[in-house]
Order: sequence, then C-alpha cells, then structure tokens
Amino acid sequence: MKRCIFHVDVNSAFLSWSAVKKLKEDPSALDLRTIPSAVGGDVKTRHGIITAKSIPAGRMGVKTGEPVVKALAKCPDLVLIPSDFETYRAYSRAFIRILEKYAPVIEQVSIDEAYLDMTGTEHLFRKESAGGEPFPLCAARVIRDEIRTSLGFTVNVGISTNKLLAKMASDFEKPDRTHTLYPEEVPSKMWPLPIRDLHGCGGATAARLYSLGILTIGDAAAFDEELLKSVLGEAAGAYIHRSANGISTSPVRAERDRAKSYSNERTLAEDITEDNYEGRMPEILDYLSDKVSGRLKKDHVRAATIGVIVKTGSFHRHTRQVTLERAVNAKDPIERAARGLMEDLLKGPEGLFAAGETLRLVGLSASGLDDSPFEQMSLFDLLEEQGAAGAGEAGEKEEEMPFPFLSPLPSGTAASETPPEPSPPDPAPSPPSPQEERKQRLEDMMKKVRSRYGEDALRKGSGPEAPSGNV
Ligand SMILES: [Mg+2]
Repeated sequence: MKRCIFHVDVNSAFLSWSAVKKLKEDPSALDLRTIPSAVGGDVKTRHGIITAKSIPAGRMGVKTGEPVVKALAKCPDLVLIPSDFETYRAYSRAFIRILEKYAPVIEQVSIDEAYLDMTGTEHLFRKESAGGEPFPLCAARVIRDEIRTSLGFTVNVGISTNKLLAKMASDFEKPDRTHTLYPEEVPSKMWPLPIRDLHGCGGATAARLYSLGILTIGDAAAFDEELLKSVLGEAAGAYIHRSANGISTSPVRAERDRAKSYSNERTLAEDITEDNYEGRMPEILDYLSDKVSGRLKKDHVRAATIGVIVKTGSFHRHTRQVTLERAVNAKDPIERAARGLMEDLLKGPEGLFAAGETLRLVGLSASGLDDSPFEQMSLFDLLEEQGAAGAGEAGEKEEEMPFPFLSPLPSGTAASETPPEPSPPDPAPSPPSPQEERKQRLEDMMKKVRSRYGEDALRKGSGPEAPSGNV
C-alpha cells in the first residue's frame, strides 16, 4: 500500500509563538510576524545569536544563527524579542496534541516540526472529502485550520508517499500552505531546484557537486550513481542519488522508539564566575561537545537541537537551546552553538552573571535526532570516509583532483571497492602513518577549499552560521 506521509512545520516558530503570546496579552499590539523582527540574544546589549526571525526580516537578509550584531547591520530597524522557552515548550506541546488527534503515528523531529503517517486515515475525513475536497488535501486543511484557529499560529503541510518528499514539500511557499510532492511530481516540482535545497545536502557537499557541473537536483538525479559515489563516498553518493530521485524508505517512527536526547553534564570542583569564565568555560565546552558528539556518532544519529544547561550557586537550573538548520554530530558545530548559547545565558545585563550568579554545574544536550543514513554529512565526515577508503593512493594523482582526498574519477567502481594498489617492489621510504596522512590531507583540503570557495566554505554545511530560516 502506498503510504501517506505529512510533514508539518510551524512557520517561523519561536517568532510566531512570541507574537501570539504578545497578542493574547494585548490584542491591540503590533503583530511581530508582520514586521522585521527576530528572537535572540540579549535584547539590551545586543549580544548573542538570532534563533528565529520573521518572514519580513528574512527578506532583509537576516539569518538564523548569525550574531545579533551582524543581523542589525543588515536590518537596523530589526525588532529584537527575548527568548521565552517556557512559552515555546507550551505551544510545542499544544501543537503536537492537535496532531495526535488526527495521526496514528507521529514522529516529532524538533520543537516545531513532525512527520505524520496518515496512511489509512481516509475514513476520518469522509465528511470533508464528500464536500468535494479529496483526501489527503482535506486532512491537511483540517489540521492547519485547527492549529490556526485554536492556537493562533500557522503551519505548512507537505504531503507525499515518503518522509523526504513530504519534508521537501513543506518547505515550498510559506506561510500557511499545503503542498504535495508525489513521486510523479518530482520532475516538475523538485528537479528544477538548486542542489543545495535537497534535504541533507550541506553547503560543502553542494560545492563539490557544483564542481562536477551538478547545479540542480535534476542534474544529480540524472548523474551516474557510481560516479557520485566515487566523488562523495559510498554512503553520501548513494544518498544524494536516491534522494534526488525522490526515493526514501525511512519510516515514521513514534518518539517512544527513539532515544529523545543525549546530554552530558559536569559538576565543577570550583564554581565558574564572571571573572574566571573566559579562562575555564572553553575547556568545559570542549570536553562536553566532544562527549556528546562521540555518543551521537557511535549511535549514527545527528541532532538538530543543541542546548546548554547550567545549575547556579543558588541551585537553580537554567537552559537555552537553538535548532540548527541541519542536524549535526560533529564536535565543532555543537561546540560553536553551545558557546553562543552560553554567552546568551550568562552575559549582558539580563544574564545570570549580572544577577550575581555563579555556576556549579554545566551541561550540554543534543536532541531533535535524525538517524537517516546521510542527512548531513559534513566535509569532515566525508574526509574520514575517504581517508579510510582512499589511503594508499598516489600523491601526484591527488594533486590533479579538485579536492585532494577524492579518489580518481571514473573507473566504473566505487572507491571503497577498488583493491589497494600493489606495493612497489623496490624499497621505498616508509609511508606516513594513517593519522599523519589524514592530518595532512585535512590541511591540504582546507587550504584548497578555502582558496576555492572562500574562508567560510568549511562552515557552510553544519555550523550554527547556517541554521534554519523556519524555526
Ligand atoms: Mg519551522
């Protein structure tokens, strides 16, 4: 039986939720969704990062995850709204409760989005479809209407036969829309899109695909799969080819089947204060990011939401979190997000330090888990894969390649299936250790990528610099 999958995504979630709360308190207040506005950082000192933005702010070039200062440079009239996680959690729960009324299986992927498996629910919407609106469009409308009228904010619904296409569809025109993207609509609706828009294709992967002349999703769909694998590695190449053709088999899985989050905490021998913060916090976040990243990688999952937790000298717990555009499991993006959140929480006149607090415990969490085989492989993950597959290749060949760690192109077989070159018969100088070789490849790669795509190229894929426009 063909599955019927919805992806439901709250439009500008944090921003909308703050706007709705404000309108509830004062119905004559300006609707923050209609002006350039953003949630994030310390509103007074203008420290910290943007965690959500209105659609008008997005049009001015404001990006989620960028420093508040940078956003204000682009949009000086930007109205900044303080984070309010208590409100977000309350609206998120109310949102999910409505979805639970209609969907037998729900997979919540972050605070503001969920997949619904609506297969076999036609009978619940018999009345609506009798009115002339066919299933499943009527079901999507009923859900959207109920969320809008009872909660006051809007969602997009993407409909298809699998999660990938439903997710792609919900990202089409916003806000408050339903879009379908059935397999037969893939050529007309998905193939013309830039390859960067393919779910799971990070900036770094897109840059490598551009160098092969792959500009659109359609280009990738038509590209030889073995060639893609030899360039991106087995898993990534197969993922891109499959997804570009609209194929995805990952089931909608209820929350109870999945670990909800990964977190590590550290109780401190000596409290962190405003004075020793700069000296001590970086080392603690380095340690915690390494732990959390290691556990995510071990379980082959990525997390879209990164949070920090502190316990103060007065035994209160405080948290902050941010949802990135793409799920990550590498240490660096986790650590960067954690650093920004910590600054947000502690510094400035509204921060905990200004209130005279000290910290006795620091923690880091990762949630919004994604376990598809290649959702967001970073350049570094790819490097590790290629480093293992490509060890022993001749150095001079590598120099000709656009990226030094790629295996030589066409041979019809994927890199990892190519048997290793026989050793030279004559005594040769002893080769570098795999670690040294990998380190050297990494350095070479970083130089080349940066000279080609600019200093920021290595951060495009998964850093908090590039996170979501639609949280
Ligand atoms: Mg959203």
